[in-house]
Amino acid sequence: MCGSNDYLGLSTDPRVTAAAAEAASQYGAGCTGSRLLNGNLDLHEELERELADFFGKEAALLLTTGYQANLGAIGGLCGPADTVYVDKEAHASLIDAARLSRAKLQWFHHNDTEDLAAKLAQHSGPGGKLVAVDGVYSMEGDLCPLPELLDVCDRFDATLLLDDAHGAGVLAAGRGTAEHFGLTDRVPLITLTFSKAFGSIGGVVLGDEDVVEYLRHHSRSLLFSASASPANTAAALASLRIVRDEPWRCEAVLKKADHMRSELLALGYRTGEPGTPVVSLDTQDEIHTLLGWRRLMDTGVYVNAVLPPAASPRLRTSYTAVQTEEQLDRALAGFALARDVLGPVLTRGA
Ligand code: PMP
Repeated sequence: MCGSNDYLGLSTDPRVTAAAAEAASQYGAGCTGSRLLNGNLDLHEELERELADFFGKEAALLLTTGYQANLGAIGGLCGPADTVYVDKEAHASLIDAARLSRAKLQWFHHNDTEDLAAKLAQHSGPGGKLVAVDGVYSMEGDLCPLPELLDVCDRFDATLLLDDAHGAGVLAAGRGTAEHFGLTDRVPLITLTFSKAFGSIGGVVLGDEDVVEYLRHHSRSLLFSASASPANTAAALASLRIVRDEPWRCEAVLKKADHMRSELLALGYRTGEPGTPVVSLDTQDEIHTLLGWRRLMDTGVYVNAVLPPAASPRLRTSYTAVQTEEQLDRALAGFALARDVLGPVLTRGA
């Protein structure tokens, strides 16, 4: 399995599954209502307090998925008078959130802060400006240039929203991309999901107390959707405590991903930068992406085939803290074999 987002191996950790089972027995299988009505549990609030504490923000708002966290944050804060500036490679949920908010959607080139500044400079009118980026880009595995983004936001009086779905639980001993850059205090809004490193399901908006309290009453994806199930909430809480207590997991996944990155490079694959759990292999065109995926599958290696519009053609590989050396060696043997299919695109233009 070289395509899972279970970066720390927590979805099957016995402490996490036991917490889920216990919560299901204690509270039931579902909450049958939204947080603001009958669906609020002490468990949700306990998780919010521990999240805010761990990630170093004043407050946290728990939603049912990461997708809904982005809809809730952007939809709750932005309206028709505002503009949302979205990185070209940002996650679909940020784009959908901007569209649903009815704000003006303005693209900027991926990780290009000069282009962002140029777009912000053209802004006129009284509306607000929100810049939405991923911390770790889910398909490419590269980091956003957070210090430069914050500087541009300051210059143009824009607010930054950082979706840290793939950085939280992994970078900076689990505290994520903002902390990796030592800039948590300067990032006003961070969204997270539990569907990656935390091995569960759930979404979070982190920010200042007053903003989070406002969103509690204005996020339609929170108000009009049932709250996270007791099992998923308890699993996320158990995972959060493991992340806090066992930072070796974060180091292990990054070490394994970087090892795979350099071995794949040595095999002739074109990979991105080190330092994240995602190692994306540039496969140039759609046919080679699919042929390579099939060949790898036939050798017993699962990766994710990525095609437009998700991103440019690539094989997205990702690693976990609990993979053994033997498993990674087996995977590398598969990647070596798949060069018979992928050879032409690996050498083209290299
Ligand atoms: N943001 C990013 C960057 C993601 O990769 C994902 C999941 N693919 C989400 C948000 C949505 O998270 P969830 O699965 O919890 O809805």
